[in-house]
Amino acid sequence: MKYLIISDLHSNLEALSAVLASVKRKKFDRVLILGDLVGYGANPNQVVNIVRRTKQAVVIRGNHDKVACGIENGENFNRAAQASAHWTQKKLTPENRSYLSHLPQGPALVDNEILISHGTPIDEDAYIFSDYDAFEVFQMLDFKICFFGHTHLPVVYAVSNQKLYTFRPDGERVKIALMNGFKYMVNPGSVGQPRDKNPLASFAMFDSDQRTITFKRVEYSIPKTQDKILKAGLPQSLANRLAIGV
Ligand code: ZN
Repeated sequence: MKYLIISDLHSNLEALSAVLASVKRKKFDRVLILGDLVGYGANPNQVVNIVRRTKQAVVIRGNHDKVACGIENGENFNRAAQASAHWTQKKLTPENRSYLSHLPQGPALVDNEILISHGTPIDEDAYIFSDYDAFEVFQMLDFKICFFGHTHLPVVYAVSNQKLYTFRPDGERVKIALMNGFKYMVNPGSVGQPRDKNPLASFAMFDSDQRTITFKRVEYSIPKTQDKILKAGLPQSLANRLAIGV
């Protein structure tokens, strides 16, 4: 099976379109979408519409999706995130708001092998920033491979015999081979708001027969996206950070 894995789209139509165009000729059996379809960017409806049209997609919700559709109030959000959440609430069509409100909470089990979660497979809102965070999840839950998002940072955690290995993919195309006897937690990075100091849209592909994961980065029109954010009256910081990938 071939999987396309995307996370943290954040209403960035240009980035999502560039990602999908870059894999246009590839055939995927499933598209795994790890939450945060909306928030921060200026095209929430367009991005949700694309996700809704995507065939063979398995979609879970992120923390921004919950606030945008009113499940949570975003009191733990910083000011820019709160402002964009309120703006998104007003912009969403009733159909798209309803779609977001019905997105399942992670973790979701896909094809009996893959777990997908937004934060961690134990807590959808928790961040995995450190080796310790990852190790704790491996200790608490048994799975072969888990794809997660939320931090916007591409990373691979692998564990075998109680030893943890960390790998941070860096480059436009990085392919890794999975090893027998290891368990994996993998973050594909963020499509719509990368934070690893690389502004290119980030995603991953998993070939479950070849046992490989490929991390990819693609260019998109950042000035166009920034322009839309500013014209929408969203906080300037949300436009600025896209150019530097933080
Ligand atoms: Zn996010």
